[in-house]
Amino acid sequence: MHRASLGELARELSAKRLSAVELTRAFLARIERHDPRLNAFITIDAEKSLAQARAADARIAAGDAGPLTGIPIAHKDLFCTRGWRTTCGSRMLADWIAPYDAHVVERFAAAGAVILGKTNMDEFAMGSSNETSHFGPVRNPWALDAVPGGSSGGSAAAVAAGLAPAATGTDTGGSIRQPASFTGISGLRPTYGRVSRYGMVAFASSLDQGGPMARSAADLAVLLDAMAGFDPRDSTCMERAKDDYVAALGRGAKGLRLGLPREYFTADLASDVAAPILAAIEALKKLGATTVEVSLPNQHLSVPAYYVIAPAEASSNLARYDGVRYGHRASEYADLDDMYAKTRAQGFGAEAKRRIMIGTYVLSHGYYDAYYRQAQRVRRHIARDFAEAFAKCDLIVGPAAPSVAYDLGAKKDDPVQMYLDDLYTIPINLAGLPGMSIPCGFGAKGRPVGLQIVGNYWDEARMLAAAHAYQQATDWHTRVPPGFD
Ligand code: GLN
Repeated sequence: MHRASLGELARELSAKRLSAVELTRAFLARIERHDPRLNAFITIDAEKSLAQARAADARIAAGDAGPLTGIPIAHKDLFCTRGWRTTCGSRMLADWIAPYDAHVVERFAAAGAVILGKTNMDEFAMGSSNETSHFGPVRNPWALDAVPGGSSGGSAAAVAAGLAPAATGTDTGGSIRQPASFTGISGLRPTYGRVSRYGMVAFASSLDQGGPMARSAADLAVLLDAMAGFDPRDSTCMERAKDDYVAALGRGAKGLRLGLPREYFTADLASDVAAPILAAIEALKKLGATTVEVSLPNQHLSVPAYYVIAPAEASSNLARYDGVRYGHRASEYADLDDMYAKTRAQGFGAEAKRRIMIGTYVLSHGYYDAYYRQAQRVRRHIARDFAEAFAKCDLIVGPAAPSVAYDLGAKKDDPVQMYLDDLYTIPINLAGLPGMSIPCGFGAKGRPVGLQIVGNYWDEARMLAAAHAYQQATDWHTRVPPGFD
């Protein structure tokens, strides 16, 4: 049951061969059994989950069920969930109970989904390995000594290990796609503005976007359908009709022009990753796609630009944690300034502090033009490169990450090396484009490799169709990490 697709689960539920309460209990039992090894969850509240499951069963009995009614979903712990702790992986919010639901959470609730728990993550979504969490690192189900990727590492590990049928994540610079790649699951970052950011704890507002994480593209389509939708409370959420993602799955890959960026297949890409990626491209060609070389000449500037823009926005967003309004407050201090200083010194971890300092610096008088404005110019060039590439192709394909998951601790003390690893995901965020990662094989030490599929703006349906066609022809997305069957 814990390996069933969302469609299969919905059928079992609506045929009343399975109740939402039974399903929720089964996943809670798996979490209890397996999560001590993974640390994928920060908060579990069985009573709340089961109350929602009972309500879902009542809806099913009343004949008022949709495709997600009664399905347990784990939420990355930066989506506000009313009455549940929402920590964002930080000591600053370690005891904070959200007074309202994020728009995404509201939409899942309206669909009748059950909140299964809140998943572990890098502090304030800053990281690529899930090692910056105040709640300890998450482990990769494929290799317990390896990182699951980040920052949505808890969601990724939970789905990969079969502790949740699906989860939410957010992707500011790769945090859905890279952990999906490292744990062998499917994850989709929608076009900026497709999913409301209301109630998502803000990291870098011009880059943050919530999206689904699941085992297959077919499941992602069901989830995206629930998550996407206009919300006037997020001023950057677009009022634009969504496509029928589920219906689009049947479109296949025939005739799709796949762009292969010249800059993606260089020495930066480990050979154990390149081989499965190239094989996946061949598989898509067999399904009727064609390939064309494209170029993203400013790709190498994206990581430097991101590490100016994201910290700049973070330094502003994180200014709200002052110990006055909510969150952690130092217990002893001399005066107001001392209270601010001690609260922030205690509440934030090293990575958040590093970003606040970088961000404050690049926005300060005298440096703004040299760094922040320049980074915004680079961002414009990167978006233009993609526009030129999409004149020649329908989708861009390549790796999601330059290597497979690395060992815990391997890059912890070298933040710049970790930053550079985001070279394939970050350009997509800077341009505001949608991107996804789907499993396409295994690299060194038997660790998963993810194929990145990037679409043009609002083209999630086409990306999902290509991914689904690939998954119909291959079985990488059905592989189970040993010890979690
Ligand atoms: N790894 C990137 C960072 O550390 C991206 C994180 C994200 O997408 N939230 O900022």
